[in-house]
Amino acid sequence: MLKHNTLIFKILTALILGCDFHRSRISSTTNFAASTTNLLHATLTSLMTELKLSGELQFDNLHHAAKDFGNRYHLLPAAILHPKSVSDISSLITYVFQMGPTSGLTVAARGHGHSLEGQAQAHHGVVVNMESFGQSQGMQFHIHGDKPFVDVSGGALWINILHESLKHGFAPKSWTDYLHLTVGGTLSNAGISGQAFRHGPQINNVYQLQVVTGTGQVVTCTEDMNSDLFYGVLGGLGQFGIITRAHISLEPAPKMVKWIRVLYSDFTTFTKDQEKLISSDSSFDYVEGFVLINRTGLLNNWRSSFKCKDPVQASQFFSDGKTVFCLEIAKYFKQEDVETIDQKIEMYLSKLNYNESTLFVSEVSYVEFLDRVHVSELKLQEKGLWDVPHPWLNLLVPKSKIHKFASEVFGKILTDTSNGPILIYPVDKSRWNTKTSMVTPTEDIFYLVAFLSSAMPSSEGTDSLEYILSQNKKILEVCETAKLETKQYLPHYNTQEEWRTHFGSQWDVFVRRKLTYDPLAILTPGQRIFQKATTYL
Ligand code: FAD
Repeated sequence: MLKHNTLIFKILTALILGCDFHRSRISSTTNFAASTTNLLHATLTSLMTELKLSGELQFDNLHHAAKDFGNRYHLLPAAILHPKSVSDISSLITYVFQMGPTSGLTVAARGHGHSLEGQAQAHHGVVVNMESFGQSQGMQFHIHGDKPFVDVSGGALWINILHESLKHGFAPKSWTDYLHLTVGGTLSNAGISGQAFRHGPQINNVYQLQVVTGTGQVVTCTEDMNSDLFYGVLGGLGQFGIITRAHISLEPAPKMVKWIRVLYSDFTTFTKDQEKLISSDSSFDYVEGFVLINRTGLLNNWRSSFKCKDPVQASQFFSDGKTVFCLEIAKYFKQEDVETIDQKIEMYLSKLNYNESTLFVSEVSYVEFLDRVHVSELKLQEKGLWDVPHPWLNLLVPKSKIHKFASEVFGKILTDTSNGPILIYPVDKSRWNTKTSMVTPTEDIFYLVAFLSSAMPSSEGTDSLEYILSQNKKILEVCETAKLETKQYLPHYNTQEEWRTHFGSQWDVFVRRKLTYDPLAILTPGQRIFQKATTYL
């Protein structure tokens, strides 16, 4: 069958190459683009008919696949594949691979589309809708051995894994702050949250993957079998294969959570306490923190969901113009611990040096705690504030540089109310498996600092996209000039030179893996690391 299709491949290749050629020379491209797109559709359709897909190829209403949470990059694909089986994905990639290096056609897996800068988009390529694939595939629980796990689709949403696992009394160990993301999407980055200090990021909590590589091969990999692909794909930014299934490690699930916030006015005391907590094996189960710049009134919001130990004094803690630091911690517990949990928490808290009048405690179910950001999402959606541009900046800052970073950024670059949460919490990678593709600073302990800004579309003020992007640029410049040795998380660069610097000593391995598993650079063009039909050595 493949031989039979050679002619079609050639026609398609000529079409796509012709399309690129003409695009650069014709100023009014609309008619041309439309006719080329139609021909592309016709050719892809005939190919797909021969491929006998069980899923569907969609050619209309493609705008959804040209959008993401960042809402700044909008690259239309030629088609969206809604696969019904792994072999649909494998057949598509095999065909594109056999078209050779010059076809220009690329393939991107799209999870829940919560990337920030078009990372799941494929300009004139084929976007694979992993979320619909995830919905059509089941979850299999293996909970009786000493390493319980759930076998899920790469397109499964973490929120659905949580609900299904709880029916068996289990749950994954390591999370992201927001659960409406797919397994493939977070495993391609890392999946870091307040549990990572204890369990490592999500990429450290996977036993096995099934991957479709850039040549269309379906490969099962683990730490011991095809381990190069296994570690390459984890944190691999979608460069080496599409994750079609994953075995996610589970633990017995807690029922309830004591969710606590305490405030600090001194950064050093704040970070000392955070570092103390992440080095302890027997204290809280979740450790995060955030920076509050000039946020008078925030306490009033918290009062609706948190009980404050001393409300009058706590309200006096805040004043305009201040930067304060909030430690957010959580302790999980089960029914049988109800009697003792408060005492335990008091003991843990007694070792911390927060401002005593600012203890906020809430008791919620495990699901409520893990799905907490979704509550904010629903509120923002109601106000039409969820689908705005999100110029986020996520940095990993070495422990030895965090004070310099804070003194340069908080109160200097960021002087006014921030345009969204600023998270800051340490992790210790000496407890992690660091064989994955994830790039971190060299020091074992580093801080995740996340500027999670929302931009107001019509604004020209300090909440405009331009203003926030210029602030992000200043932060990156400070990191550079003060030699803070930071790394970007959810990285975004425009040139290969920048990517090379980002990967540092890991670059050669990354390139070698690309040549091995996706030699034509078909996969995930939206990361802008490798370009199809160009050389990257
Ligand atoms: P997409 O955006 O669809 O894809 C992300 C990348 O992975 C793309 O390059 C895509 O091509 C590739 N990809 C997708 N599926 C697959 C697959 N099956 N196989 C191979 N490659 C694939 N991250 C954290 O670590 N911690 C957090 O606490 C956290 N909180 C967040 C909160 C919100 C509100 C949002 C919007 C994002 C958050 N993130 C967090 C970032 C999030 O992990 C990434 O944006 C993630 O990529 C989004 O997953 P997705 O399923 O939407 O992936």
